Amino acid sequence: MPVRINDIIDEISTYVPDSGLRLVEKAYVFSARVHQGQTRLNGEPYLNHPLEVAYIVAQMRLDVVSVAAALLHDTIEDSLTKREDIKAEFGEEVASVVDGLTKISRIDFRSEEEKQAENFRKMILAMSKDLRVLLIKLIDRLHNMRTLAFHTRQNQLRIARETLDIYAPLANRLGIHWLQTELENLSFMYLEPEDYRILKAKMDSIAREKEDYLRNFMARVRLKLEEAGIKSDIKSRIKHIYSVYQKLKRQNISLSNVYDVLGIRIIVDTEAECYAALGVIHGSWKPIQQRIKDFIAQPKPNGYKSLHTTVIGPGGDRIEIQIRTREMDSVANDGIAAHWLYKDYAKTHDDAKFDPSKETHELSWLRRLLESHRELKNPRDFLRSVKLDLYPEEVFVFTPKGEVFQFPVGATPLDFAYSVHTQLGHQCIGAKVNGQIVKLNYELKSGDVVEILRSSKQHPSKDWLRIAKTSRAKNKIQAWLRAQEREQGIALGREMVEKKLKAVHPEQDVDLESIAKVFAYKSTDDFLAAIGFGRLSVNHVLNKLYPDYQKKKARSQAAEKKAEGASVVVKGVDNLLIRFAKCCRPIPGDDIVGFITRGKGITVHRSTCQYASEIDSQRMIPVEWDMGVNESHEVEMSVVCEDRPGMLGSITAAIGAKNVNISRLKALPLADGNSACQFFVAIKNLAELERLTADLKRIKGVIRVERR
Ligand code: MN
Repeated sequence: MPVRINDIIDEISTYVPDSGLRLVEKAYVFSARVHQGQTRLNGEPYLNHPLEVAYIVAQMRLDVVSVAAALLHDTIEDSLTKREDIKAEFGEEVASVVDGLTKISRIDFRSEEEKQAENFRKMILAMSKDLRVLLIKLIDRLHNMRTLAFHTRQNQLRIARETLDIYAPLANRLGIHWLQTELENLSFMYLEPEDYRILKAKMDSIAREKEDYLRNFMARVRLKLEEAGIKSDIKSRIKHIYSVYQKLKRQNISLSNVYDVLGIRIIVDTEAECYAALGVIHGSWKPIQQRIKDFIAQPKPNGYKSLHTTVIGPGGDRIEIQIRTREMDSVANDGIAAHWLYKDYAKTHDDAKFDPSKETHELSWLRRLLESHRELKNPRDFLRSVKLDLYPEEVFVFTPKGEVFQFPVGATPLDFAYSVHTQLGHQCIGAKVNGQIVKLNYELKSGDVVEILRSSKQHPSKDWLRIAKTSRAKNKIQAWLRAQEREQGIALGREMVEKKLKAVHPEQDVDLESIAKVFAYKSTDDFLAAIGFGRLSVNHVLNKLYPDYQKKKARSQAAEKKAEGASVVVKGVDNLLIRFAKCCRPIPGDDIVGFITRGKGITVHRSTCQYASEIDSQRMIPVEWDMGVNESHEVEMSVVCEDRPGMLGSITAAIGAKNVNISRLKALPLADGNSACQFFVAIKNLAELERLTADLKRIKGVIRVERR
């Protein structure tokens, strides 16, 4: 049913005195005459559009000037009507609002950046003269989006993109949540129809499945709150589709893995009850700690206040809970408009006139924007400052040449580097921000001028996944790490196979290519990687190639095992391929790293080893101690002590008392008159070494005890 003028009159007569209705009726007659004979793309009379817009404006309880201006908003644009005609008929105020709306609709955003910036400036200028222009423009766009189906695909894409880039953020900035979400959802539907369809179906089915579940949960919450003496009003909610989509994209999760879309909203009477209710909830259901947000103590820039928490509901479902007072709820839905909705407007204002010049916190950003843009002559600077204000959850940074890059808050130089070029990301060692050198994990701030520092020796590592915030950077790092792991797997597989085969048949050349074929692998590399990653065991390969190998195996393995310590685990690697570096002699409990060494399997170093730090890190492989194995390792020690009789005896006695074997002991006189006693001990683990060191330090005359 199309909206009729009587619906609008009915709506505004609930908050505007009768005297104001005349203006609206007059505007209707004028608009009807001007648009007579015009039709919209869907074949309806054109007049339906201004009627719909005016009706929503009335529902938002804007003043009569706004409703009249909404009815007239397209008259100058689409006909021969002039600003002076409107002024003569309806007065300066209505004319100025309609004029502002006309100026905005003439702006063409389909242009290069410079021009777009200039147009954006014009738009802000037109809107910021009078907040009503902005509000009516947003409603106009909303109705156009609702009826976008009749446009060509090309126009749909352009209009939806513009809505998502400019109008939805403006609605967000004004805090009008319902308007923002509808603009976003509609834009999403046109821009990504396939994703929209999949996600919508998925969310609808979750909503259906979880209807009873949420109802039961809400009843239990109500009961818990009642027991605590808190009166509440509880509603269930499903998050809006575009916000779910953004989150999936941000976290790089596939559309079929939607999980937290369930939510409830608890409305209580006072701010104190908000916190009390939060306590009750957390006492009953386990909260996910990092998801608690206190927007009451720290309201959003648009004035939004609420407590947010996510709890694990019955059966393990995550449920987001918002807790707020009635007034906070009203601001959350209507934003800036809530302030004149919440108080009974008609009662407090005789002439029912909304005064946009009234100083409110929500308007101040718009005023600031206007003031700051007056000083910014360069349109690009202006666009920059507008974007800073419009997207409070984004940071905008620049290259030294002035190109602008946009990131989520928390982004680092790594995100910047990867957004320029993948190779630059891989080789990023830090950045110069505003001329100062910063580390990889520096948090970019709006306005930063960023220059990436690179080194051809640099490459990604696992901890980069925590430093990067954008999915692009994370994906690139992940891909590099996977390729690297494969390289390592292949190298390791080659070592294992060659070593084993040589052990069984030293006289034969190893033909890996034909062996890979025996096991039906597409390539030698695939075969070697399968072994390196432990998907295919070397013993299995040997058994198949040499059925008689089994008998020999027991003997040779026992011998090999004795020769080498076997207390390190590497996924998929046989013990006999592991050896301990002589430079640093690691023992269980030390932090260790492994390096693939051609012809020698894996060499394990202490991670602090000077020598290890010089080895090509591409050959590095993670290793771990197998704490279940109880073998001894040789450790070289040095004890500096006073040069007096009986010292050596006390030292060896202390070691013997610990049941530790000692070998290759020698004592040297030092230049300072003391002596140094050097020896090797067989130690099981770090704890034992520490106990021994403590004992040695307690001996009278011992100055220093060191592990070499
Ligand atoms: Mn319009």
